[in-house]
Amino acid sequence: MGSFSVLPPEARRLEGKVALITGGASGIGAATAKLFSKHGAKVVIADMQDELGHSVCKELNPQSTTFVHCDVSKETDVENAVNHAVSMYGKLDIMYNNAGISGESQYNIPDNTQADFEQVIRVNLVGAFLGTKHAARVMIPARKGSIINTASISSIMGGTAPHGYTCSKHAMAGLMKNTAVELGHFGIRVNCVSPYAVLTPLTKTYYNLGEEGISNFYSNLKGKVLTAEDVAEVALFLGSDDSKYVSGHNFVIDGGLSVVNSGFC
Ligand code: NAD
Repeated sequence: MGSFSVLPPEARRLEGKVALITGGASGIGAATAKLFSKHGAKVVIADMQDELGHSVCKELNPQSTTFVHCDVSKETDVENAVNHAVSMYGKLDIMYNNAGISGESQYNIPDNTQADFEQVIRVNLVGAFLGTKHAARVMIPARKGSIINTASISSIMGGTAPHGYTCSKHAMAGLMKNTAVELGHFGIRVNCVSPYAVLTPLTKTYYNLGEEGISNFYSNLKGKVLTAEDVAEVALFLGSDDSKYVSGHNFVIDGGLSVVNSGFC
Protein backbone atom coordinates (compact mmCIF):
# COMPACT_ATOMS: atom_id res chain seq x y z
CA MET A 1 0.00 0.00 0.00
CA GLY A 2 1.18 3.50 -0.77
CA SER A 3 0.76 6.43 1.51
CA PHE A 4 -0.07 10.09 1.12
CA SER A 5 2.68 12.56 1.78
CA VAL A 6 1.31 14.88 4.43
CA LEU A 7 3.23 18.07 3.96
CA PRO A 8 3.11 21.04 6.31
CA PRO A 9 2.88 24.39 4.49
CA GLU A 10 6.55 25.13 5.25
CA ALA A 11 7.64 21.82 3.70
CA ARG A 12 10.68 21.90 1.43
CA ARG A 13 9.49 19.77 -1.44
CA LEU A 14 12.83 19.66 -3.27
CA GLU A 15 15.14 19.08 -0.31
CA GLY A 16 18.28 17.26 -1.47
CA LYS A 17 17.54 17.73 -5.18
CA VAL A 18 19.72 19.43 -7.78
CA ALA A 19 18.04 21.44 -10.54
CA LEU A 20 19.41 23.03 -13.70
CA ILE A 21 17.22 25.79 -15.14
CA THR A 22 17.93 27.18 -18.59
CA GLY A 23 16.76 30.74 -19.16
CA GLY A 24 16.85 31.11 -15.37
CA ALA A 25 18.07 34.71 -15.42
CA SER A 26 14.66 36.20 -16.22
CA GLY A 27 10.90 35.73 -16.20
CA ILE A 28 9.53 32.22 -15.64
CA GLY A 29 13.01 30.72 -15.20
CA ALA A 30 14.03 33.23 -12.52
CA ALA A 31 10.73 32.77 -10.65
CA THR A 32 11.26 29.00 -10.77
CA ALA A 33 14.86 29.30 -9.54
CA LYS A 34 13.57 31.27 -6.56
CA LEU A 35 10.78 28.80 -5.78
CA PHE A 36 13.00 25.72 -6.22
CA SER A 37 15.62 27.29 -3.97
CA LYS A 38 12.98 28.12 -1.34
CA HIS A 39 12.00 24.44 -1.41
CA GLY A 40 15.54 23.31 -0.64
CA ALA A 41 16.93 22.53 -4.11
CA LYS A 42 20.45 23.30 -5.18
CA VAL A 43 19.96 25.37 -8.33
CA VAL A 44 22.15 26.02 -11.36
CA ILE A 45 20.99 28.87 -13.56
CA ALA A 46 22.13 28.54 -17.17
CA ASP A 47 21.60 31.56 -19.37
CA MET A 48 23.22 33.92 -21.85
CA GLN A 49 22.58 36.98 -19.68
CA ASP A 50 25.50 36.65 -17.28
CA GLU A 51 24.96 39.78 -15.21
CA LEU A 52 21.26 39.13 -14.69
CA GLY A 53 21.91 35.45 -13.94
CA HIS A 54 24.50 36.32 -11.29
CA SER A 55 22.13 38.84 -9.72
CA VAL A 56 19.36 36.21 -9.42
CA CYS A 57 21.89 33.90 -7.73
CA LYS A 58 22.87 36.67 -5.30
CA GLU A 59 19.24 37.03 -4.20
CA LEU A 60 19.17 33.31 -3.38
CA ASN A 61 21.37 31.23 -1.10
CA PRO A 62 24.93 31.56 -2.51
CA GLN A 63 25.83 28.19 -0.96
CA SER A 64 23.27 26.42 -3.08
CA THR A 65 22.90 28.48 -6.25
CA THR A 66 25.32 29.01 -9.12
CA PHE A 67 25.30 30.54 -12.55
CA VAL A 68 26.80 29.11 -15.72
CA HIS A 69 26.96 30.88 -19.06
CA CYS A 70 25.10 28.82 -21.64
CA ASP A 71 23.69 29.30 -25.10
CA VAL A 72 21.20 26.42 -25.28
CA SER A 73 21.52 26.21 -29.06
CA LYS A 74 25.17 25.16 -28.69
CA GLU A 75 25.81 21.57 -27.66
CA THR A 76 29.15 22.26 -25.95
CA ASP A 77 27.51 24.92 -23.76
CA VAL A 78 24.66 22.60 -22.73
CA GLU A 79 27.03 19.72 -22.08
CA ASN A 80 29.16 22.06 -19.98
CA ALA A 81 26.13 23.31 -18.00
CA VAL A 82 25.08 19.75 -17.12
CA ASN A 83 28.66 18.86 -16.17
CA HIS A 84 28.83 22.02 -14.07
CA ALA A 85 25.73 20.95 -12.08
CA VAL A 86 27.19 17.49 -11.50
CA SER A 87 30.63 18.77 -10.52
CA MET A 88 29.17 21.40 -8.15
CA TYR A 89 26.51 19.29 -6.49
CA GLY A 90 27.25 15.66 -7.41
CA LYS A 91 24.16 14.86 -9.53
CA LEU A 92 21.25 16.24 -11.53
CA ASP A 93 17.66 15.50 -10.47
CA ILE A 94 15.68 18.14 -12.39
CA MET A 95 16.41 19.51 -15.85
CA TYR A 96 14.21 22.46 -16.70
CA ASN A 97 14.49 23.31 -20.41
CA ASN A 98 12.96 26.75 -20.17
CA ALA A 99 15.10 29.14 -22.27
CA GLY A 100 13.16 30.50 -25.19
CA ILE A 101 12.71 33.36 -27.61
CA SER A 102 9.73 34.59 -29.58
CA GLY A 103 11.71 35.76 -32.60
CA GLU A 104 11.27 38.93 -34.59
CA SER A 105 8.70 37.73 -37.11
CA GLN A 106 5.08 38.77 -37.10
CA TYR A 107 2.14 36.48 -37.82
CA ASN A 108 2.01 36.95 -41.61
CA ILE A 109 4.08 34.30 -43.30
CA PRO A 110 5.15 36.34 -46.35
CA ASP A 111 7.12 38.60 -44.01
CA ASN A 112 8.75 35.79 -42.02
CA THR A 113 12.42 35.36 -42.77
CA GLN A 114 14.04 31.95 -42.94
CA ALA A 115 16.83 33.17 -40.66
CA ASP A 116 14.38 34.18 -37.94
CA PHE A 117 12.35 30.96 -38.28
CA GLU A 118 15.52 28.86 -37.94
CA GLN A 119 16.82 30.87 -34.99
CA VAL A 120 13.60 30.33 -33.01
CA ILE A 121 13.74 26.59 -33.77
CA ARG A 122 17.40 26.49 -32.75
CA VAL A 123 16.86 28.11 -29.36
CA ASN A 124 13.45 26.69 -28.38
CA LEU A 125 13.49 23.21 -29.91
CA VAL A 126 17.15 22.32 -30.42
CA GLY A 127 17.84 23.84 -26.99
CA ALA A 128 15.28 21.51 -25.38
CA PHE A 129 16.65 18.57 -27.36
CA LEU A 130 20.21 19.25 -26.19
CA GLY A 131 19.08 19.79 -22.60
CA THR A 132 17.15 16.52 -22.64
CA LYS A 133 20.03 14.65 -24.27
CA HIS A 134 22.66 15.77 -21.78
CA ALA A 135 20.36 15.45 -18.77
CA ALA A 136 19.58 11.88 -19.89
CA ARG A 137 23.32 11.17 -20.09
CA VAL A 138 23.64 11.68 -16.32
CA MET A 139 20.13 10.67 -15.25
CA ILE A 140 20.13 7.24 -16.96
CA PRO A 141 22.91 5.82 -14.76
CA ALA A 142 21.14 7.31 -11.69
CA ARG A 143 17.87 5.64 -12.79
CA LYS A 144 15.83 8.73 -11.86
CA GLY A 145 15.17 12.32 -12.80
CA SER A 146 12.54 14.80 -13.90
CA ILE A 147 12.85 16.70 -17.17
CA ILE A 148 10.51 19.65 -17.69
CA ASN A 149 10.17 21.72 -20.86
CA THR A 150 8.51 25.10 -21.00
CA ALA A 151 6.42 24.77 -24.14
CA SER A 152 3.47 27.16 -24.46
CA ILE A 153 -0.20 27.33 -25.25
CA SER A 154 1.26 27.60 -28.77
CA SER A 155 2.15 23.92 -28.43
CA ILE A 156 -1.54 23.02 -28.79
CA MET A 157 -3.05 25.99 -30.64
CA GLY A 158 -2.37 27.89 -33.82
CA GLY A 159 -2.77 31.61 -34.34
CA THR A 160 -1.34 32.59 -30.97
CA ALA A 161 2.23 33.38 -32.07
CA PRO A 162 4.48 33.60 -35.15
CA HIS A 163 5.04 30.44 -37.19
CA GLY A 164 8.55 29.61 -35.95
CA TYR A 165 7.41 29.90 -32.33
CA THR A 166 4.29 27.76 -32.80
CA CYS A 167 6.24 25.10 -34.71
CA SER A 168 8.99 25.01 -32.09
CA LYS A 169 6.50 24.62 -29.25
CA HIS A 170 4.44 21.92 -30.97
CA ALA A 171 7.67 20.04 -31.62
CA MET A 172 8.77 20.44 -28.00
CA ALA A 173 5.60 18.62 -26.96
CA GLY A 174 6.49 15.85 -29.44
CA LEU A 175 10.02 15.63 -28.09
CA MET A 176 8.59 15.39 -24.58
CA LYS A 177 6.28 12.49 -25.55
CA ASN A 178 9.02 10.53 -27.32
CA THR A 179 11.53 10.96 -24.53
CA ALA A 180 8.94 10.22 -21.82
CA VAL A 181 8.44 6.81 -23.44
CA GLU A 182 12.14 6.11 -23.90
CA LEU A 183 13.42 7.47 -20.60
CA GLY A 184 10.57 6.02 -18.57
CA HIS A 185 12.46 2.72 -18.79
CA PHE A 186 15.13 4.35 -16.65
CA GLY A 187 12.77 5.91 -14.10
CA ILE A 188 13.05 9.37 -15.69
CA ARG A 189 9.92 11.45 -16.12
CA VAL A 190 9.45 14.04 -18.86
CA ASN A 191 6.67 16.65 -19.00
CA CYS A 192 5.88 20.10 -20.40
CA VAL A 193 4.42 23.17 -18.81
CA SER A 194 2.50 25.24 -21.33
CA PRO A 195 1.53 28.68 -20.14
CA TYR A 196 -0.69 31.18 -21.80
CA ALA A 197 0.47 34.83 -21.67
CA VAL A 198 2.65 35.85 -18.73
CA LEU A 199 4.08 39.33 -18.38
CA THR A 200 7.85 38.88 -18.80
CA PRO A 201 10.50 40.60 -20.95
CA LEU A 202 9.56 38.13 -23.72
CA THR A 203 5.92 39.29 -23.92
CA LYS A 204 6.87 42.93 -23.30
CA THR A 205 9.25 42.88 -26.24
CA TYR A 206 7.13 40.93 -28.65
CA TYR A 207 3.55 41.91 -27.89
CA ASN A 208 4.37 45.24 -26.25
CA LEU A 209 2.05 44.38 -23.36
CA GLY A 210 1.93 46.01 -19.93
CA GLU A 211 0.08 44.89 -16.78
CA GLU A 212 -3.27 46.05 -18.09
CA GLY A 213 -2.72 44.61 -21.53
CA ILE A 214 -1.81 41.20 -20.22
CA SER A 215 -4.88 41.05 -17.99
CA ASN A 216 -7.14 41.50 -21.02
CA PHE A 217 -5.03 39.50 -23.44
CA TYR A 218 -7.37 36.72 -24.56
CA SER A 219 -8.32 36.41 -20.89
CA ASN A 220 -10.71 33.65 -19.96
CA LEU A 221 -10.36 33.68 -16.18
CA LYS A 222 -11.69 37.21 -15.93
CA GLY A 223 -9.81 39.51 -13.62
CA LYS A 224 -6.99 37.02 -13.00
CA VAL A 225 -3.51 37.52 -14.40
CA LEU A 226 -1.20 34.56 -14.93
CA THR A 227 2.21 35.20 -13.38
CA ALA A 228 5.64 33.61 -13.72
CA GLU A 229 5.23 32.43 -10.11
CA ASP A 230 2.05 30.52 -11.07
CA VAL A 231 3.99 28.68 -13.77
CA ALA A 232 6.82 27.99 -11.30
CA GLU A 233 4.33 26.28 -8.96
CA VAL A 234 3.44 23.77 -11.69
CA ALA A 235 7.14 23.17 -12.40
CA LEU A 236 7.63 22.61 -8.66
CA PHE A 237 4.98 19.88 -8.70
CA LEU A 238 6.62 18.23 -11.72
CA GLY A 239 10.11 18.48 -10.23
CA SER A 240 9.06 17.09 -6.87
CA ASP A 241 8.27 13.53 -5.88
CA ASP A 242 4.63 14.58 -5.50
CA SER A 243 4.37 13.86 -9.23
CA LYS A 244 6.35 10.61 -9.13
CA TYR A 245 3.98 8.78 -11.49
CA VAL A 246 3.34 11.70 -13.82
CA SER A 247 5.12 11.55 -17.16
CA GLY A 248 4.46 12.28 -20.83
CA HIS A 249 2.04 15.15 -20.28
CA ASN A 250 1.70 18.69 -21.42
CA PHE A 251 0.37 20.81 -18.54
CA VAL A 252 -1.50 23.67 -20.14
CA ILE A 253 -1.77 26.66 -17.78
CA ASP A 254 -4.36 28.83 -19.49
CA GLY A 255 -7.29 29.23 -17.13
CA GLY A 256 -9.37 27.07 -19.45
CA LEU A 257 -8.85 29.25 -22.50
CA SER A 258 -7.97 26.46 -24.92
CA VAL A 259 -11.23 24.61 -24.23
CA VAL A 260 -13.32 27.59 -25.33
CA ASN A 261 -14.75 26.73 -28.72
CA SER A 262 -14.18 29.99 -30.53
CA GLY A 263 -10.81 30.48 -28.81
CA PHE A 264 -8.46 33.01 -30.30
CA CYS A 265 -8.64 35.44 -33.20
P1 NAD B 1 12.18 35.87 -20.63
O1 NAD B 1 12.64 36.62 -21.82
O2 NAD B 1 11.89 36.61 -19.38
O3 NAD B 1 13.20 34.70 -20.28
C1 NAD B 1 13.82 33.92 -21.24
C2 NAD B 1 15.24 33.64 -20.79
O4 NAD B 1 15.84 32.78 -21.76
C3 NAD B 1 16.10 34.92 -20.72
O5 NAD B 1 16.79 34.97 -19.50
C4 NAD B 1 17.05 34.77 -21.89
O6 NAD B 1 18.33 35.35 -21.67
C5 NAD B 1 17.15 33.25 -21.99
N1 NAD B 1 17.61 32.82 -23.31
C6 NAD B 1 17.19 33.24 -24.53
N2 NAD B 1 17.89 32.64 -25.49
C7 NAD B 1 18.77 31.81 -24.87
C8 NAD B 1 19.78 30.92 -25.32
N3 NAD B 1 20.03 30.76 -26.63
N4 NAD B 1 20.48 30.24 -24.40
C9 NAD B 1 20.25 30.40 -23.08
N5 NAD B 1 19.33 31.24 -22.60
C10 NAD B 1 18.60 31.94 -23.48
O7 NAD B 1 10.89 35.10 -21.13
P2 NAD B 1 9.89 34.09 -20.39
O8 NAD B 1 8.54 34.54 -20.76
O9 NAD B 1 10.24 33.87 -18.97
O10 NAD B 1 10.17 32.77 -21.25
C11 NAD B 1 10.57 31.54 -20.67
C12 NAD B 1 9.95 30.42 -21.47
O11 NAD B 1 8.53 30.48 -21.34
C13 NAD B 1 10.24 30.48 -22.97
O12 NAD B 1 10.51 29.18 -23.43
C14 NAD B 1 8.94 30.98 -23.55
O13 NAD B 1 8.75 30.56 -24.89
C15 NAD B 1 7.95 30.33 -22.61
N6 NAD B 1 6.62 30.94 -22.58
C16 NAD B 1 6.45 32.23 -22.22
C17 NAD B 1 5.18 32.77 -22.20
C18 NAD B 1 4.93 34.19 -21.81
O14 NAD B 1 3.82 34.66 -22.03
N7 NAD B 1 5.88 34.89 -21.23
C19 NAD B 1 4.07 31.97 -22.54
C20 NAD B 1 4.29 30.65 -22.90
C21 NAD B 1 5.57 30.13 -22.92
